[in-house]
Amino acid sequence: MLTGEVGNSALFAVCVLLGVVAMVFVVATVNARRETRFAARIARERGERMSELLRTVRMAESIADLGIWQFDPASGVQQWSDGMRTLFGMAKDEEFIEGDAETVLFANDIDLVGQVTARAKEVGPYELHYDIHGYDGMPRSISVQACNLHNGSGEVARVVAVVRDVTDQVQRERKLERSRVSALQEASVARKLAETDPLTGLANRRRVMAVLDQHVVQSQKNGEPLSLILFDIDHFKSVNDTYGHPHGDRVLQEVAKIAMEQAREGDVVGRVGGEEFVWIVPGADNSYTRIISERLRLAISMGTAIEDKPPVTISVGFTSLVAGDAPLKLFARADTALYDAKGAGRNRVRMAA
Ligand code: GH3
Ligand code: MG
Ligand code: MG
Repeated sequence: MLTGEVGNSALFAVCVLLGVVAMVFVVATVNARRETRFAARIARERGERMSELLRTVRMAESIADLGIWQFDPASGVQQWSDGMRTLFGMAKDEEFIEGDAETVLFANDIDLVGQVTARAKEVGPYELHYDIHGYDGMPRSISVQACNLHNGSGEVARVVAVVRDVTDQVQRERKLERSRVSALQEASVARKLAETDPLTGLANRRRVMAVLDQHVVQSQKNGEPLSLILFDIDHFKSVNDTYGHPHGDRVLQEVAKIAMEQAREGDVVGRVGGEEFVWIVPGADNSYTRIISERLRLAISMGTAIEDKPPVTISVGFTSLVAGDAPLKLFARADTALYDAKGAGRNRVRMAA
């Protein structure tokens, strides 16, 4: 009886213990399953958030016509987003296999990897520009705005770039630049025309006076010599009267050509009246100017015969700059010397008194 009671109590204790163990096991199992489900839910939610983010990035890419390019310098692997592939003329459903990135860049003559590698020290964003054959087979301009992500030791861990089609903008800028250049060219041609004598191609009076002003200022400042030669065709009226106006024109052109041949670089020869010319000679003093004036007079008297018509002669007056001279004073002195040469019988050179 006593033994039976002891046996029942032990069995009861074992049952209670087993019950407790079973309860602990059930609770632990339920907890473990709950944790697994919780972890799975977190992972699923994260995944959904990631795909949502990717969808948003793709949508933003396609709305903004952007491409995203990523490069890992350690592995040399490039990642091309859908937008990036579209920019380079690839269809959305076209398979993008290994090596395609390098091939497409090479085909467009773009060394993108080389250029971002060369800019590895850049800490801020930087921009590269390329001309490519784009999605419509037409030339396109793309801008690559890149940014280096550095690791703790200062090396580039990744390059991330936003690639944009900037064709319209570049074409607008190029068109604007072309218009600017052609406007400048037209202005320069117009200025030249406004300063050139149409018959002889020499500087006209306006240009001569402007150049003379500049040289007088410069010579006064530097103390360098400057001379002015004025020459006029003798009896030109009778040349016109005898041989006709067209012949007179050809004589004027011939005189201009000979004078230009005599002038040095930096000199200016101009036509300042009907048959009156001027030669500005920077750096020349009186004695040198007398020599070149004589040489010019001789060359014209020998070189202006056209067909069976006789050559013409010129009378020459010259003067050199003195301290305090104004351009018009210089001009007036040379004119007086020319008048003296005419008065003395023409076909001769006179220096201003
Ligand atoms: P001088 O020896 O005193 O200089 O006498 P000149 O006959 O040369 O001078 P004048 O001033 O009496 O006559 C100048 C002539 O130049 C008159 C004009 O018809 C002529 N002339 C002016 N411009 C031109 C031109 O562009 N072409 C031609 N063929 N003749 C011109
Ligand atoms: Mg004359
Ligand atoms: Mg004259």
